[in-house]
Amino acid sequence: MLFTYDTELTLRAAAVLVNSDRVDGEQLGDLAALDQYLNEFGWTGRRDRNDAELDAVHQLRTRIGDIWDVADDEEATVQRVNALLGETKASPWLTRHVENPDWHLHLGAADDPLWQRMGAEIAMALADLIRGGELRRLKICAAPDCTAVLTDLSRNRSRIFCDTGNCGNRQHVAAYRQRQREEE
Ligand SMILES: [Zn+2]
Ligand SMILES: [Zn+2]
Repeated sequence: MLFTYDTELTLRAAAVLVNSDRVDGEQLGDLAALDQYLNEFGWTGRRDRNDAELDAVHQLRTRIGDIWDVADDEEATVQRVNALLGETKASPWLTRHVENPDWHLHLGAADDPLWQRMGAEIAMALADLIRGGELRRLKICAAPDCTAVLTDLSRNRSRIFCDTGNCGNRQHVAAYRQRQREEE
């Protein structure tokens, strides 16, 4: 494990959030899809279950995607993460509950708006990454036709393809065909 369990979980959740409109169109288009996403990653706390909540999560998604897009630039990334920490009023406290029985940080009160709690937790996980000198782990998929993001949590930072579609395989097949053509 590179980071604490909750940081890694949040980084995975953040990548899935960003990719929910970067691969195969809008995958987080209604409240049912949002429910499914939140349950998958064990997000707890207040739920309004209305369009305003969904809209706020979409705006957060754009912001987090923007952080991935500028991650090559450390200063620009820090600026965005700090802005998010400030705007979400991130205030850490330790908790554990049925969805996640290990002690972990929550970054807001349970009745803060969903986007605010999500934003604070994602910003804190990104802050962990930056403090650890590991910002390079935020990557954009190397497949030429794919803009999906990934958090490379492999030991030697060797991942270059997203795990949303089949990008790794597609690229291997393309490289193989290229080699075959060259040998003919
Ligand atoms: Zn929790
Ligand atoms: Zn990809």
